[in-house]
Amino acid sequence: MSSQTPVPWFDDFVGVAYRYYDLRMNVVPLFSDRKKATNLWHDSIRWWLDHSIKIRFVETGDDYWFIMGADSQHPQDNLSFFKVLPKSENYDRFKKGHQGEAYFRLGVYSEKTLKDVKKDAVCNCGHAAEDHDKNDNDACLYEVCKCKTFNSFQVNLLKKKKTVTNIEFLDESNVKDDALAWNCMNANKYSK
Ligand SMILES: [Zn+2]
Ligand SMILES: [Zn+2]
Repeated sequence: MSSQTPVPWFDDFVGVAYRYYDLRMNVVPLFSDRKKATNLWHDSIRWWLDHSIKIRFVETGDDYWFIMGADSQHPQDNLSFFKVLPKSENYDRFKKGHQGEAYFRLGVYSEKTLKDVKKDAVCNCGHAAEDHDKNDNDACLYEVCKCKTFNSFQVNLLKKKKTVTNIEFLDESNVKDDALAWNCMNANKYSK
């Protein structure tokens, strides 16, 4: 387990969702391709040693770095996640509400247009599908609403999960004190 090759950094995913599910907050890297997510779990994540899993959030202005890594029973297949993302309401909710632990699972993200959904599906504008006009580019019928076309996204959480109990929020000025965050920012920011 003391392999000297650095663990590769992986950022080929869409974003991160934060959801209450199974009584805990869930941290959910999102993929648009289900197969890619299940393969990644099968090949790499299932070998992670639960107590070694760490999540670091490094805030840089309006953005934050999501950084995640663990020791693996199969170090040759290991990888660490990172992604630079805009701060969001859900991120803030997780930051305030996680209480030191979370479930980690992968999610599959899909966008839906008006023709894909039932009448009561909710658009990103907050109004139902039936309140959008298919004769007007699927625009929202509420006069106060600026929505020009129905759009909603769905997230399906995959069942397999890991428990994470090592979660920290850092400022960029103190990343040097944290090995995982430092390795990530050094490899993906400072030495670029
Ligand atoms: Zn609307
Ligand atoms: Zn809408």
